[in-house]
Amino acid sequence: MGTRFDAVLFDAGGVLVLPDPAVLAPLISYYGGDDRHEAYVRAHYAGMAAKSASTAGESDWTQYNETYLSHLSVPEEHRDTALGVLTHVKSNAHLWRHPIPGSAETLRELEARGVPIGVVSNASGQIESTLRLSGICQVGAGPHAQVRCVVDSHVVGIEKPDPRIFDHALVHFAGIERSRIAYVGDSLVMDVRGSRAAGLHPILVDPYDDATDHDVERIKMLGDLLSLI
Ligand SMILES: [Mg+2]
Repeated sequence: MGTRFDAVLFDAGGVLVLPDPAVLAPLISYYGGDDRHEAYVRAHYAGMAAKSASTAGESDWTQYNETYLSHLSVPEEHRDTALGVLTHVKSNAHLWRHPIPGSAETLRELEARGVPIGVVSNASGQIESTLRLSGICQVGAGPHAQVRCVVDSHVVGIEKPDPRIFDHALVHFAGIERSRIAYVGDSLVMDVRGSRAAGLHPILVDPYDDATDHDVERIKMLGDLLSLI
């Protein structure tokens, strides 16, 4: 198989899909905020970096939402209202559906190379269906890249960074050494800490170099994986 890795597992949010800017931009620009797609992409990764810095758990998105909004140039007088709207809409897991350009292609290429792949996500029971609807992957044969599993924390009852969530994926990768399995995520706390504790090799998606001070292998985009494998 690969020279460094024999299998790859993926986080979903921030790696395969993002909170949909096509939904959020009209909501936030109504309050005078930025409506450019790229501002919402930047806001996500900045939010994740702030969330990790605060070592907030999965359930606390306060830091994330505040930082996210701070990147959207909402005038001071509307900031609280916009934050309330953002927080409310963001709490719906189905919003995490915008396919990150290159993610579907990268999964397909890994599949074509015979690299076993799967997904492990802190989610709300929806992520397998979202990944299919967003054209990224499905479990088993189908129109998109084929993954061995999509583990949803809500379904299995354990969430990252608890390393035991990975056991639900690893049963589908029997015979492959854990240290030869990469886990690609965008959170230092949930993904890097969790997968490291499970004995996997963490890789952080860090498109804006927010985590240069941290001891972790980083990539800017998912396609960068193809030269690492
Ligand atoms: Mg994520």
